[in-house]
Amino acid sequence: MTPLDLLVSGAAEVFPSGDEAPISHGVVGVQAGRVVYLGPETGLAGAGWTPGPGTRRVDAAGGLVTPGLVDPHTHLVFAGDRAHEYALRAQGASYQEIARAGGGIAHTMAHTRAASEETLCALAAPRLDRLLRHGVTTAEVKSGYGLDLDTELKLLRVIRRLDRHHPVDLVATFLGAHIVPPEHRADRARYVDLLVHGMLPAVAAEGLAEFCDVFVEDTAFHPDEATAILRAGASLGLRPKLHVDQLTDGGGARLAADLGAVSADHLEFASVDGIRALADAGTTAVLLPGATLFLGQSARPPARALLDAGVPVALATDCNPGTCPTENLSLMLTLGMSLLRLQPDEALRAVTCHAARAIGRADVAGALAVGRPADLVVFDVPSHRHLPYHFGVNHARTVVKGGRVVWEAPPTPTFFTPA
Ligand SMILES: [Zn+2]
Repeated sequence: MTPLDLLVSGAAEVFPSGDEAPISHGVVGVQAGRVVYLGPETGLAGAGWTPGPGTRRVDAAGGLVTPGLVDPHTHLVFAGDRAHEYALRAQGASYQEIARAGGGIAHTMAHTRAASEETLCALAAPRLDRLLRHGVTTAEVKSGYGLDLDTELKLLRVIRRLDRHHPVDLVATFLGAHIVPPEHRADRARYVDLLVHGMLPAVAAEGLAEFCDVFVEDTAFHPDEATAILRAGASLGLRPKLHVDQLTDGGGARLAADLGAVSADHLEFASVDGIRALADAGTTAVLLPGATLFLGQSARPPARALLDAGVPVALATDCNPGTCPTENLSLMLTLGMSLLRLQPDEALRAVTCHAARAIGRADVAGALAVGRPADLVVFDVPSHRHLPYHFGVNHARTVVKGGRVVWEAPPTPTFFTPA
């Protein structure tokens, strides 16, 4: 019998994700940072494992155990905020109108360029802490608020530093093609040239990003520009991702499929043809219902049509200062159900196995299985159906990363004092 390093027991339900069905009253045994047992407690000894005097025990106390959540789309390194724009939008201003008036991404860009690497790190760390406290153990983070060589590199170095010194594993994406910065508006081709021949080679030379992303929209980049940028990125080893069809149907889903994108993100206005193309290309759809809610949009990404076509659907916070300032990934499960009509198991897979697939981490994140890294969350709800249902509240009680307990919610006192 081999003693375990960590034993999670007392769960009402363990949701392994992937193709596995939830396990009632399952336990999770961990040794050397990996899951070594998953199943009923009675089977533990038969599998050769036992809790010993040195075993850390986590009592799930009738809660739900899931894989560590994966947030596959965030922009969490930036300076400044855009609370004023939120108020303007409530008065009727559109996202495009605010962007044309110099607000939006350009506003965040100005603040981000002025901030030091140290400051950006200090601003981003608490956001990453909040993601972790909501159960996220792996996240993608994009650059894209620098839009010049030095600031884009600065942002990617901040992401690398956070990855090295924070329990959450980060996957970096270069999004120099977020918008055309104001100083290049008169000559867009020069900015595309700078991306292709200046920024991308510098990013690749320092090994600062795994993915290259382009925001395809009337107010950002056109499909032919996106093609040039993503092909240049791919030739340097940066795999393509795309922000597409968020505000209009720009044929972005088809473009993502044609370019072999790992993920196509947003997709509010994706066409039927585009959905079929994504399925054929094996591209994962990353849907961002928090942005839909925050922008007060009526258009919903076609989650059901995507799933029916065989496209894996992931959900993300899109954590960013303009269109979705939140780190609450569980809230996206609720929005995934209420706005996108996902079922509870589909919503949970969308922030675990499918989210991991969207960022090239399907082999190490987003599922609980023997042999995989022990990233898991204990939620204070009795089943996966209750996590999206009781919404707007953080139910994460214990977060384990690589077999180590990295967060435990403090005990909450009751204010009820019966006479
Ligand atoms: Zn985004």
